[in-house]
Amino acid sequence: MGTGTATEYRHYIGGEWVRPEGTYAVVNPATEAVVGEAPDATVDEVQAAVAAARAAFDGWSQTSKRERSALLRAAADRWLEKHDELVPVIQAETGTVSALASALQVRMAAARLHEYADLALLDWDDPLPPTPGARPGHRGGELLGAIAVRQPVGVCACITPYNVPVPGVAGKVGPALAMGNTVVVKPAPQDPLGTIELARVFDEVGAPPGVVNVVTGSRPEIGAAIVASAEVDMVSFTGSCTVGEQIYAAGAPTMKRLLMELGGKGAALVLHDADLDTAAESISRTWTFHSGQACVAPTRVVVARARYAELVDRLAAIARVLPIGDPLDPGTVVGPVISGAQRSRIESMIGAGEEAGAAVVVDGRRPDHLERGFYVGPTLLAECTNDMYPVREEIFGPVVAVVPFDDEEEGIAIANDSSYGLYDYVFSTDTPRAYAIARRLRCGNVGINTADRNAHTPFGGFKRSGIGRMDGKYGMATYSELQSIVWPSR
Ligand code: NAD
Repeated sequence: MGTGTATEYRHYIGGEWVRPEGTYAVVNPATEAVVGEAPDATVDEVQAAVAAARAAFDGWSQTSKRERSALLRAAADRWLEKHDELVPVIQAETGTVSALASALQVRMAAARLHEYADLALLDWDDPLPPTPGARPGHRGGELLGAIAVRQPVGVCACITPYNVPVPGVAGKVGPALAMGNTVVVKPAPQDPLGTIELARVFDEVGAPPGVVNVVTGSRPEIGAAIVASAEVDMVSFTGSCTVGEQIYAAGAPTMKRLLMELGGKGAALVLHDADLDTAAESISRTWTFHSGQACVAPTRVVVARARYAELVDRLAAIARVLPIGDPLDPGTVVGPVISGAQRSRIESMIGAGEEAGAAVVVDGRRPDHLERGFYVGPTLLAECTNDMYPVREEIFGPVVAVVPFDDEEEGIAIANDSSYGLYDYVFSTDTPRAYAIARRLRCGNVGINTADRNAHTPFGGFKRSGIGRMDGKYGMATYSELQSIVWPSR
Protein backbone atom coordinates (compact mmCIF):
# COMPACT_ATOMS: atom_id res chain seq x y z
CA MET A 1 0.00 0.00 0.00
CA GLY A 2 1.38 3.37 -0.95
CA THR A 3 1.29 6.22 1.52
CA GLY A 4 0.91 9.93 1.13
CA THR A 5 4.11 11.84 1.81
CA ALA A 6 4.79 15.41 2.86
CA THR A 7 5.03 16.38 -0.79
CA GLU A 8 2.57 13.93 -2.29
CA TYR A 9 -0.86 13.86 -0.70
CA ARG A 10 -3.41 11.26 -1.71
CA HIS A 11 -6.99 10.30 -0.98
CA TYR A 12 -7.43 7.69 1.73
CA ILE A 13 -10.11 5.28 0.51
CA GLY A 14 -10.82 1.78 1.80
CA GLY A 15 -7.49 1.63 3.62
CA GLU A 16 -5.53 2.50 0.44
CA TRP A 17 -3.66 5.67 -0.47
CA VAL A 18 -5.27 6.45 -3.81
CA ARG A 19 -3.35 8.66 -6.23
CA PRO A 20 -5.81 11.39 -7.33
CA GLU A 21 -6.61 12.21 -10.92
CA GLY A 22 -5.77 15.85 -10.23
CA THR A 23 -4.45 18.19 -7.54
CA TYR A 24 -4.79 21.83 -6.53
CA ALA A 25 -2.53 24.21 -4.60
CA VAL A 26 -3.05 24.87 -0.90
CA VAL A 27 -1.91 28.41 -0.13
CA ASN A 28 -0.30 29.80 3.03
CA PRO A 29 -2.52 32.78 4.02
CA ALA A 30 0.44 34.62 5.57
CA THR A 31 2.89 34.34 2.66
CA GLU A 32 0.64 33.40 -0.28
CA ALA A 33 3.20 30.65 -1.04
CA VAL A 34 2.06 27.12 -1.93
CA VAL A 35 2.12 24.79 1.10
CA GLY A 36 1.36 21.63 -0.84
CA GLU A 37 -0.71 20.05 -3.58
CA ALA A 38 -3.93 18.47 -2.32
CA PRO A 39 -5.93 15.81 -4.17
CA ASP A 40 -8.72 17.42 -6.19
CA ALA A 41 -11.41 14.75 -6.02
CA THR A 42 -13.60 13.66 -8.89
CA VAL A 43 -17.14 12.39 -8.39
CA ASP A 44 -15.87 8.84 -9.10
CA GLU A 45 -13.29 9.15 -6.30
CA VAL A 46 -15.99 10.38 -3.93
CA GLN A 47 -18.21 7.47 -4.84
CA ALA A 48 -15.35 5.05 -4.22
CA ALA A 49 -14.94 6.52 -0.73
CA VAL A 50 -18.66 6.19 -0.01
CA ALA A 51 -18.64 2.59 -1.28
CA ALA A 52 -15.66 1.78 0.96
CA ALA A 53 -17.45 3.23 3.99
CA ARG A 54 -20.59 1.26 3.13
CA ALA A 55 -18.63 -1.98 2.76
CA ALA A 56 -16.94 -1.46 6.14
CA PHE A 57 -20.13 -0.60 8.02
CA ASP A 58 -21.40 -4.09 8.87
CA GLY A 59 -18.10 -5.16 10.39
CA TRP A 60 -17.38 -1.93 12.26
CA SER A 61 -20.89 -1.58 13.67
CA GLN A 62 -20.55 -5.06 15.19
CA THR A 63 -17.30 -4.33 16.99
CA SER A 64 -17.27 -3.96 20.76
CA LYS A 65 -17.24 -0.61 22.50
CA ARG A 66 -13.79 -1.44 23.81
CA GLU A 67 -12.46 -2.01 20.32
CA ARG A 68 -13.86 1.31 19.11
CA SER A 69 -12.57 3.11 22.18
CA ALA A 70 -9.11 1.57 21.69
CA LEU A 71 -8.90 2.74 18.08
CA LEU A 72 -9.81 6.32 19.02
CA ARG A 73 -7.34 6.34 21.90
CA ALA A 74 -4.55 4.96 19.72
CA ALA A 75 -5.24 7.58 17.06
CA ALA A 76 -5.26 10.40 19.63
CA ASP A 77 -2.00 9.19 21.18
CA ARG A 78 -0.30 8.77 17.81
CA TRP A 79 -1.50 12.22 16.71
CA LEU A 80 0.13 13.74 19.80
CA GLU A 81 3.35 11.80 19.20
CA LYS A 82 3.54 13.53 15.82
CA HIS A 83 2.77 16.96 17.31
CA ASP A 84 6.09 18.56 16.30
CA GLU A 85 5.79 17.57 12.66
CA LEU A 86 2.07 18.42 12.48
CA VAL A 87 2.24 21.98 13.83
CA PRO A 88 4.26 23.46 10.90
CA VAL A 89 2.00 21.95 8.22
CA ILE A 90 -1.25 22.96 9.87
CA GLN A 91 0.06 26.38 10.86
CA ALA A 92 1.18 27.00 7.28
CA GLU A 93 -2.15 26.07 5.71
CA THR A 94 -4.37 27.84 8.29
CA GLY A 95 -2.24 30.92 9.11
CA THR A 96 -2.83 30.34 12.83
CA VAL A 97 -0.52 32.36 15.11
CA SER A 98 2.14 30.47 17.06
CA ALA A 99 0.49 31.24 20.38
CA LEU A 100 -2.55 29.17 19.30
CA ALA A 101 -1.31 26.75 16.64
CA SER A 102 -0.37 23.90 18.96
CA ALA A 103 -3.25 24.17 21.42
CA LEU A 104 -6.03 25.03 19.00
CA GLN A 105 -5.11 23.18 15.83
CA VAL A 106 -3.23 20.10 17.07
CA ARG A 107 -3.88 19.36 20.75
CA MET A 108 -7.60 20.10 20.56
CA ALA A 109 -7.97 17.45 17.85
CA ALA A 110 -6.37 14.87 20.16
CA ALA A 111 -8.48 16.04 23.10
CA ARG A 112 -11.64 15.41 21.11
CA LEU A 113 -10.52 11.93 20.05
CA HIS A 114 -9.54 11.14 23.64
CA GLU A 115 -12.91 12.32 24.89
CA TYR A 116 -14.74 10.03 22.49
CA ALA A 117 -12.41 7.15 23.35
CA ASP A 118 -13.87 7.51 26.86
CA LEU A 119 -17.44 8.13 25.77
CA ALA A 120 -17.34 5.12 23.42
CA LEU A 121 -17.61 2.99 26.57
CA LEU A 122 -20.92 4.57 27.65
CA ASP A 123 -23.86 2.24 28.08
CA TRP A 124 -26.81 3.67 26.17
CA ASP A 125 -29.22 0.74 26.73
CA ASP A 126 -32.38 2.01 28.38
CA PRO A 127 -34.56 -0.78 29.84
CA LEU A 128 -38.18 0.38 29.98
CA PRO A 129 -40.93 -0.53 32.47
CA PRO A 130 -43.03 -3.52 31.30
CA THR A 131 -46.58 -2.79 30.12
CA PRO A 132 -49.54 -5.21 30.04
CA GLY A 133 -50.10 -6.69 26.58
CA ALA A 134 -53.30 -5.34 25.05
CA ARG A 135 -54.34 -7.70 22.27
CA PRO A 136 -58.12 -7.62 21.66
CA GLY A 137 -59.69 -10.79 23.08
CA HIS A 138 -56.56 -11.72 24.95
CA ARG A 139 -57.28 -12.98 28.44
CA GLY A 140 -54.52 -11.01 30.07
CA GLY A 141 -51.66 -12.03 32.25
CA GLU A 142 -49.03 -11.05 29.70
CA LEU A 143 -46.46 -8.37 30.17
CA LEU A 144 -44.45 -6.74 27.42
CA GLY A 145 -40.86 -5.99 28.24
CA ALA A 146 -38.97 -3.38 26.22
CA ILE A 147 -35.67 -1.66 25.79
CA ALA A 148 -34.57 1.39 23.84
CA VAL A 149 -31.12 0.95 22.34
CA ARG A 150 -28.96 3.16 20.19
CA GLN A 151 -27.79 1.97 16.79
CA PRO A 152 -25.24 3.65 14.57
CA VAL A 153 -26.84 5.62 11.72
CA GLY A 154 -24.62 4.04 9.05
CA VAL A 155 -22.31 5.86 6.65
CA CYS A 156 -21.71 9.36 7.92
CA ALA A 157 -20.35 12.15 5.73
CA CYS A 158 -18.30 14.67 7.70
CA ILE A 159 -18.06 17.98 5.83
CA THR A 160 -16.08 20.68 7.60
CA PRO A 161 -15.05 24.37 7.40
CA TYR A 162 -11.58 25.89 7.31
CA ASN A 163 -11.19 27.64 10.66
CA VAL A 164 -10.14 24.75 12.92
CA PRO A 165 -9.80 22.03 10.31
CA VAL A 166 -8.58 18.98 12.22
CA PRO A 167 -10.40 19.55 15.54
CA GLY A 168 -13.50 20.12 13.41
CA VAL A 169 -13.01 16.72 11.77
CA ALA A 170 -12.10 15.03 15.07
CA GLY A 171 -15.29 16.39 16.65
CA LYS A 172 -17.25 14.45 14.04
CA VAL A 173 -15.13 11.35 13.43
CA GLY A 174 -14.75 10.75 17.20
CA PRO A 175 -18.46 10.40 18.07
CA ALA A 176 -19.33 8.81 14.71
CA LEU A 177 -16.80 5.98 15.11
CA ALA A 178 -17.50 5.63 18.83
CA MET A 179 -21.14 4.91 18.01
CA GLY A 180 -20.22 2.37 15.29
CA ASN A 181 -20.65 4.46 12.13
CA THR A 182 -18.15 4.58 9.28
CA VAL A 183 -17.13 7.94 7.83
CA VAL A 184 -16.31 9.78 4.64
CA VAL A 185 -14.51 12.99 5.53
CA LYS A 186 -14.45 15.95 3.16
CA PRO A 187 -12.48 18.81 4.74
CA ALA A 188 -12.58 22.44 3.61
CA PRO A 189 -10.66 23.11 0.38
CA GLN A 190 -8.48 25.85 1.91
CA ASP A 191 -6.62 23.72 4.49
CA PRO A 192 -7.10 19.96 3.96
CA LEU A 193 -3.54 18.74 4.58
CA GLY A 194 -3.86 18.24 8.34
CA THR A 195 -6.91 16.07 7.76
CA ILE A 196 -4.93 13.87 5.36
CA GLU A 197 -2.35 13.62 8.16
CA LEU A 198 -5.15 12.50 10.48
CA ALA A 199 -6.07 9.79 7.97
CA ARG A 200 -2.43 8.71 8.03
CA VAL A 201 -2.62 8.40 11.80
CA PHE A 202 -5.76 6.23 11.62
CA ASP A 203 -3.96 4.10 9.04
CA GLU A 204 -0.85 3.79 11.22
CA VAL A 205 -2.82 2.63 14.26
CA GLY A 206 -4.64 -0.03 12.27
CA ALA A 207 -8.12 1.33 11.51
CA PRO A 208 -9.93 -1.39 9.56
CA PRO A 209 -10.07 -0.52 5.83
CA GLY A 210 -13.05 1.71 4.94
CA VAL A 211 -13.91 2.77 8.49
CA VAL A 212 -12.26 6.17 7.91
CA ASN A 213 -12.06 7.60 4.39
CA VAL A 214 -10.76 11.04 3.47
CA VAL A 215 -11.26 12.76 0.13
CA THR A 216 -10.25 16.34 -0.55
CA GLY A 217 -11.27 18.68 -3.32
CA SER A 218 -11.42 22.30 -4.37
CA ARG A 219 -14.94 22.28 -5.81
CA PRO A 220 -18.30 22.46 -4.00
CA GLU A 221 -19.58 19.72 -6.37
CA ILE A 222 -17.55 17.21 -4.40
CA GLY A 223 -19.37 17.89 -1.15
CA ALA A 224 -22.63 18.00 -3.08
CA ALA A 225 -21.94 14.55 -4.61
CA ILE A 226 -21.44 13.08 -1.14
CA VAL A 227 -24.69 14.62 0.11
CA ALA A 228 -26.62 13.35 -2.92
CA SER A 229 -25.42 9.74 -2.52
CA ALA A 230 -28.11 7.30 -1.47
CA GLU A 231 -25.36 5.29 0.25
CA VAL A 232 -24.75 8.09 2.77
CA ASP A 233 -27.11 7.91 5.76
CA MET A 234 -26.08 11.02 7.66
CA VAL A 235 -24.41 14.32 6.90
CA SER A 236 -22.60 15.96 9.76
CA PHE A 237 -21.94 19.44 8.45
CA THR A 238 -20.21 22.47 9.92
CA GLY A 239 -20.05 25.59 7.80
CA SER A 240 -22.02 28.53 6.51
CA CYS A 241 -25.80 28.89 6.62
CA THR A 242 -25.90 29.17 2.83
CA VAL A 243 -24.25 25.80 2.27
CA GLY A 244 -26.24 24.34 5.17
CA GLU A 245 -29.46 25.29 3.40
CA GLN A 246 -28.23 23.62 0.20
CA ILE A 247 -27.37 20.44 2.09
CA TYR A 248 -30.74 20.43 3.88
CA ALA A 249 -32.53 20.60 0.51
CA ALA A 250 -30.22 18.14 -1.26
CA GLY A 251 -30.50 15.62 1.56
CA ALA A 252 -34.30 15.54 1.53
CA PRO A 253 -34.87 12.93 -1.22
CA THR A 254 -32.78 10.39 0.67
CA MET A 255 -34.04 11.53 4.11
CA LYS A 256 -30.55 12.26 5.39
CA ARG A 257 -29.99 12.47 9.11
CA LEU A 258 -28.44 15.88 9.63
CA LEU A 259 -26.22 17.61 12.11
CA MET A 260 -25.96 21.23 11.08
CA GLU A 261 -23.48 23.47 12.87
CA LEU A 262 -23.82 26.77 11.04
CA GLY A 263 -23.01 30.45 11.35
CA GLY A 264 -23.25 32.75 14.34
CA LYS A 265 -23.55 36.42 15.17
CA GLY A 266 -22.98 36.30 18.91
CA ALA A 267 -24.49 39.11 20.93
CA ALA A 268 -22.53 40.27 23.97
CA LEU A 269 -25.16 41.90 26.15
CA VAL A 270 -23.33 44.31 28.45
CA LEU A 271 -25.60 45.55 31.27
CA HIS A 272 -25.15 48.83 33.15
CA ASP A 273 -23.53 47.04 36.12
CA ALA A 274 -21.06 44.96 34.05
CA ASP A 275 -17.40 44.63 34.98
CA LEU A 276 -15.97 46.25 31.86
CA ASP A 277 -12.54 44.61 32.25
CA THR A 278 -14.17 41.22 31.91
CA ALA A 279 -16.51 42.33 29.14
CA ALA A 280 -13.77 44.02 27.09
CA GLU A 281 -11.37 41.08 27.45
CA SER A 282 -14.08 38.62 26.39
CA ILE A 283 -15.27 40.72 23.46
CA SER A 284 -11.73 41.32 22.23
CA ARG A 285 -11.41 37.59 21.57
CA THR A 286 -13.06 38.43 18.25
CA TRP A 287 -9.67 39.98 17.45
CA THR A 288 -7.30 37.87 19.48
CA PHE A 289 -8.70 34.40 18.76
CA HIS A 290 -7.80 33.27 15.24
CA SER A 291 -8.62 36.64 13.64
CA GLY A 292 -12.31 36.34 14.43
CA GLN A 293 -12.65 33.14 12.42
CA ALA A 294 -14.78 31.54 15.12
CA CYS A 295 -18.51 30.91 14.96
CA VAL A 296 -18.81 31.64 18.71
CA ALA A 297 -17.12 35.07 18.59
CA PRO A 298 -18.93 37.86 20.47
CA THR A 299 -19.06 40.12 17.42
CA ARG A 300 -22.25 42.08 18.19
CA VAL A 301 -21.89 44.14 21.36
CA VAL A 302 -25.22 45.31 22.76
CA VAL A 303 -24.37 47.71 25.59
CA ALA A 304 -26.28 49.86 28.09
CA ARG A 305 -25.98 53.47 26.92
CA ALA A 306 -24.63 54.54 30.33
CA ARG A 307 -21.53 52.36 29.74
CA TYR A 308 -21.34 52.73 25.94
CA ALA A 309 -18.63 55.42 25.66
CA GLU A 310 -16.44 53.79 28.30
CA LEU A 311 -16.69 50.37 26.65
CA VAL A 312 -15.98 51.73 23.16
CA ASP A 313 -12.90 53.52 24.53
CA ARG A 314 -11.64 50.38 26.23
CA LEU A 315 -12.21 48.23 23.16
CA ALA A 316 -10.51 50.79 20.91
CA ALA A 317 -7.51 50.91 23.25
CA ILE A 318 -7.16 47.12 23.00
CA ALA A 319 -7.70 46.94 19.23
CA ARG A 320 -5.06 49.60 18.50
CA VAL A 321 -2.20 47.80 20.22
CA LEU A 322 -2.69 44.18 19.19
CA PRO A 323 0.35 43.04 17.21
CA ILE A 324 -0.69 41.93 13.72
CA GLY A 325 1.55 40.14 11.26
CA ASP A 326 3.62 37.01 10.71
CA PRO A 327 1.97 34.06 12.51
CA LEU A 328 5.41 32.51 13.09
CA ASP A 329 6.52 35.49 15.18
CA PRO A 330 5.78 34.46 18.79
CA GLY A 331 4.63 38.02 19.62
CA THR A 332 1.93 38.11 16.95
CA VAL A 333 -1.64 38.09 18.22
CA VAL A 334 -3.59 38.72 15.00
CA GLY A 335 -2.62 36.67 11.96
CA PRO A 336 -4.10 36.62 8.48
CA VAL A 337 -7.58 35.48 7.49
CA ILE A 338 -7.80 32.38 5.36
CA SER A 339 -7.88 33.78 1.82
CA GLY A 340 -7.92 36.81 -0.43
CA ALA A 341 -11.61 36.20 -1.12
CA GLN A 342 -12.43 36.23 2.58
CA ARG A 343 -10.36 39.38 3.13
CA SER A 344 -12.30 41.14 0.35
CA ARG A 345 -15.60 40.02 1.86
CA ILE A 346 -14.63 41.36 5.31
CA GLU A 347 -13.45 44.67 3.83
CA SER A 348 -16.69 45.09 1.91
CA MET A 349 -18.74 44.44 5.06
CA ILE A 350 -16.77 47.09 6.96
CA GLY A 351 -17.43 49.43 4.03
CA ALA A 352 -21.16 48.63 4.14
CA GLY A 353 -21.23 49.58 7.83
CA GLU A 354 -19.45 52.85 7.13
CA GLU A 355 -21.88 53.72 4.34
CA ALA A 356 -24.82 52.96 6.63
CA GLY A 357 -23.52 55.45 9.21
CA ALA A 358 -21.39 53.35 11.58
CA ALA A 359 -18.25 55.01 12.94
CA VAL A 360 -15.09 53.06 12.06
CA VAL A 361 -13.34 53.74 15.37
CA VAL A 362 -10.48 51.37 14.58
CA ASP A 363 -9.97 50.51 10.91
CA GLY A 364 -8.05 47.30 10.19
CA ARG A 365 -8.32 47.38 6.42
CA ARG A 366 -5.03 46.77 4.58
CA PRO A 367 -2.42 47.29 7.31
CA ASP A 368 0.37 49.13 5.44
CA HIS A 369 3.33 47.26 6.89
CA LEU A 370 2.07 43.95 5.44
CA GLU A 371 2.50 43.68 1.70
CA ARG A 372 1.89 39.97 1.35
CA GLY A 373 -0.67 37.81 3.07
CA PHE A 374 -4.40 38.11 3.62
CA TYR A 375 -4.46 40.51 6.56
CA VAL A 376 -7.30 42.45 8.14
CA GLY A 377 -6.48 44.11 11.45
CA PRO A 378 -8.81 44.45 14.43
CA THR A 379 -11.72 46.67 13.44
CA LEU A 380 -14.23 48.39 15.71
CA LEU A 381 -17.54 49.74 14.40
CA ALA A 382 -19.46 51.98 16.82
CA GLU A 383 -22.68 54.00 16.63
CA CYS A 384 -24.28 50.99 14.99
CA THR A 385 -27.94 50.11 14.77
CA ASN A 386 -29.11 46.53 14.68
CA ASP A 387 -30.40 46.84 11.12
CA MET A 388 -26.98 47.52 9.56
CA TYR A 389 -25.71 44.75 7.29
CA PRO A 390 -22.45 44.06 9.18
CA VAL A 391 -24.43 43.95 12.44
CA ARG A 392 -26.96 41.47 11.11
CA GLU A 393 -24.70 39.20 9.03
CA GLU A 394 -21.81 37.02 10.08
CA ILE A 395 -18.44 38.51 9.03
CA PHE A 396 -16.11 35.71 10.22
CA GLY A 397 -13.24 38.12 10.65
CA PRO A 398 -11.78 40.48 13.29
CA VAL A 399 -14.66 42.96 13.32
CA VAL A 400 -16.69 44.02 16.37
CA ALA A 401 -19.84 46.17 16.04
CA VAL A 402 -21.31 48.06 19.01
CA VAL A 403 -25.03 48.86 19.40
CA PRO A 404 -26.23 50.89 22.43
CA PHE A 405 -29.56 50.29 24.20
CA ASP A 406 -31.56 52.39 26.66
CA ASP A 407 -33.39 49.92 28.85
CA GLU A 408 -32.77 46.27 29.55
CA GLU A 409 -35.88 44.98 27.75
CA GLU A 410 -34.70 46.78 24.63
CA GLY A 411 -31.24 45.22 25.06
CA ILE A 412 -32.71 41.72 25.28
CA ALA A 413 -34.91 42.41 22.24
CA ILE A 414 -31.90 43.60 20.21
CA ALA A 415 -29.88 40.52 21.21
CA ASN A 416 -32.76 38.29 20.09
CA ASP A 417 -33.39 40.26 16.90
CA SER A 418 -31.13 38.06 14.79
CA SER A 419 -31.66 35.23 12.34
CA TYR A 420 -28.75 33.47 14.08
CA GLY A 421 -28.88 31.83 17.50
CA LEU A 422 -25.56 30.16 18.24
CA TYR A 423 -23.75 31.78 21.17
CA ASP A 424 -24.63 34.88 23.20
CA TYR A 425 -23.01 36.41 26.28
CA VAL A 426 -24.33 38.38 29.24
CA PHE A 427 -22.06 40.65 31.28
CA SER A 428 -23.37 41.81 34.66
CA THR A 429 -22.12 41.74 38.24
CA ASP A 430 -25.63 40.65 39.28
CA THR A 431 -25.26 37.03 38.21
CA PRO A 432 -28.77 35.91 39.23
CA ARG A 433 -30.16 38.61 36.93
CA ALA A 434 -27.72 37.62 34.20
CA TYR A 435 -28.88 34.02 34.59
CA ALA A 436 -32.53 35.05 34.26
CA ILE A 437 -31.69 37.00 31.10
CA ALA A 438 -29.64 34.09 29.71
CA ARG A 439 -32.81 31.96 29.90
CA ARG A 440 -34.58 34.51 27.69
CA LEU A 441 -31.98 34.52 24.94
CA ARG A 442 -32.97 32.57 21.83
CA CYS A 443 -29.70 30.81 21.23
CA GLY A 444 -28.08 27.46 21.89
CA ASN A 445 -25.34 28.61 24.25
CA VAL A 446 -24.92 31.51 26.68
CA GLY A 447 -21.79 32.57 28.54
CA ILE A 448 -22.28 34.63 31.70
CA ASN A 449 -19.26 36.86 32.33
CA THR A 450 -17.06 34.51 30.31
CA ALA A 451 -16.17 33.69 26.73
CA ASP A 452 -14.67 30.34 27.78
CA ARG A 453 -16.45 27.15 26.78
CA ASN A 454 -17.15 24.00 28.75
CA ALA A 455 -16.35 21.11 26.40
CA HIS A 456 -18.99 18.79 27.88
CA THR A 457 -21.95 21.05 27.13
CA PRO A 458 -24.22 20.34 24.16
CA PHE A 459 -23.10 22.75 21.46
CA GLY A 460 -25.29 23.96 18.62
CA GLY A 461 -27.64 26.60 17.37
CA PHE A 462 -31.21 27.85 17.51
CA LYS A 463 -32.79 29.36 14.40
CA ARG A 464 -30.56 29.63 11.30
CA SER A 465 -27.49 28.57 13.28
CA GLY A 466 -28.27 24.91 12.84
CA ILE A 467 -29.95 21.69 13.85
CA GLY A 468 -28.75 19.18 16.45
CA ARG A 469 -25.98 19.25 19.01
CA MET A 470 -22.33 18.25 19.11
CA ASP A 471 -19.88 17.67 21.97
CA GLY A 472 -19.92 15.36 24.94
CA LYS A 473 -22.51 12.63 25.31
CA TYR A 474 -25.08 14.84 23.55
CA GLY A 475 -22.87 14.89 20.48
CA MET A 476 -22.47 11.15 20.59
CA ALA A 477 -26.25 10.57 20.70
CA THR A 478 -26.53 12.65 17.52
CA TYR A 479 -24.69 9.91 15.61
CA SER A 480 -27.25 7.24 16.56
CA GLU A 481 -30.73 6.03 15.72
CA LEU A 482 -32.99 4.96 18.57
CA GLN A 483 -34.27 1.42 18.22
CA SER A 484 -37.05 -0.05 20.38
CA ILE A 485 -37.15 -3.80 21.03
CA VAL A 486 -40.25 -5.37 22.63
CA TRP A 487 -40.85 -8.93 23.88
CA PRO A 488 -43.55 -10.86 25.74
CA SER A 489 -42.89 -12.10 29.25
CA ARG A 490 -43.94 -15.62 28.34
P1 NAD B 1 -18.61 26.83 3.87
O1 NAD B 1 -20.05 26.61 4.17
O2 NAD B 1 -18.25 27.70 2.72
O3 NAD B 1 -17.89 25.42 3.59
C1 NAD B 1 -17.96 24.37 4.51
C2 NAD B 1 -17.74 23.04 3.80
O4 NAD B 1 -18.83 22.79 2.91
C3 NAD B 1 -16.48 22.98 2.95
O5 NAD B 1 -15.88 21.72 3.14
C4 NAD B 1 -17.03 23.13 1.55
O6 NAD B 1 -16.18 22.59 0.55
C5 NAD B 1 -18.32 22.36 1.65
N1 NAD B 1 -19.34 22.65 0.63
C6 NAD B 1 -19.49 23.78 -0.12
N2 NAD B 1 -20.59 23.67 -0.91
C7 NAD B 1 -21.14 22.45 -0.66
C8 NAD B 1 -22.31 21.78 -1.13
N3 NAD B 1 -23.12 22.33 -2.03
N4 NAD B 1 -22.60 20.55 -0.62
C9 NAD B 1 -21.80 19.99 0.32
N5 NAD B 1 -20.68 20.58 0.80
C10 NAD B 1 -20.35 21.81 0.33
O7 NAD B 1 -17.95 27.35 5.22
P2 NAD B 1 -16.49 27.92 5.47
O8 NAD B 1 -16.37 29.23 4.73
O9 NAD B 1 -15.47 26.86 5.24
O10 NAD B 1 -16.50 28.17 7.05
C11 NAD B 1 -17.03 29.31 7.65
C12 NAD B 1 -18.43 29.06 8.17
O11 NAD B 1 -18.44 27.95 9.06
C13 NAD B 1 -18.96 30.23 8.99
O12 NAD B 1 -20.28 30.49 8.61
C14 NAD B 1 -18.91 29.72 10.42
O13 NAD B 1 -19.81 30.31 11.31
C15 NAD B 1 -19.20 28.28 10.23
N6 NAD B 1 -18.76 27.51 11.40
C16 NAD B 1 -19.70 27.05 12.27
C17 NAD B 1 -19.32 26.33 13.40
C18 NAD B 1 -20.33 25.79 14.35
O14 NAD B 1 -19.98 24.92 15.12
N7 NAD B 1 -21.57 26.26 14.36
C19 NAD B 1 -17.96 26.09 13.64
C20 NAD B 1 -17.03 26.57 12.74
C21 NAD B 1 -17.43 27.29 11.62
